[in-house]
Amino acid sequence: MNYKYTLPSLNYAYDALEPYIDYMTMEIHYTKHHQGYIDNLNAALEKYPELQKKPLEEILQSLDSVPADIREAVRNNGGGHFNHSMFWLMMHPKKGVAAPRDRVAAAINKHFGDFKLFQEEFNNAAKRRFGSGWAWLCVDKAGKLVVNSTPNQDTPWSQGLHPILGLDVWEHAYYLKYQNKRPDYIGAWWHVVNWDYVEELYEGLLP
Ligand code: MN
Repeated sequence: MNYKYTLPSLNYAYDALEPYIDYMTMEIHYTKHHQGYIDNLNAALEKYPELQKKPLEEILQSLDSVPADIREAVRNNGGGHFNHSMFWLMMHPKKGVAAPRDRVAAAINKHFGDFKLFQEEFNNAAKRRFGSGWAWLCVDKAGKLVVNSTPNQDTPWSQGLHPILGLDVWEHAYYLKYQNKRPDYIGAWWHVVNWDYVEELYEGLLP
């Protein structure tokens, strides 16, 4: 992803993830929240042409080298842009039973025991994230699958991890439909996980 950042196209309609994710949440989340991160990120980088030349992934991997006056803005809004750009692709309209495919399925069994145990660990990470943040399935430097969680818009990229699946647990992602019932949102979201994309990301990381 490169400056000047723009909203990536959404591959499905705002109501395509109903009844799991509702139209209004999708519309506001995509056109207001995500757009907001992009606008703030572009504004932060306005005075730094050398940073404008770097891909966002690289900036997020070395936040310490970002000038102090914009570091917080880049961390929050750059992370927000990066996380949401992946999040939209990590979902798609429900197609039959949503389950991991091929190599991801095998890796989940290898690293977590089975899919249920993985899901339990991921759900716990999503439920226990205090306040705003994300739950992730990542690949670490050794190629191991790990579940983790980040606060705010921090991204696993900044911790040297490669995210292949992520769930936004900010209230803006679910409050209109689920109010305080975050676990219901988490449970519903599994129906619309785009395992084809997860597979693609994972295979792209294999040696
Ligand atoms: Mn969000």
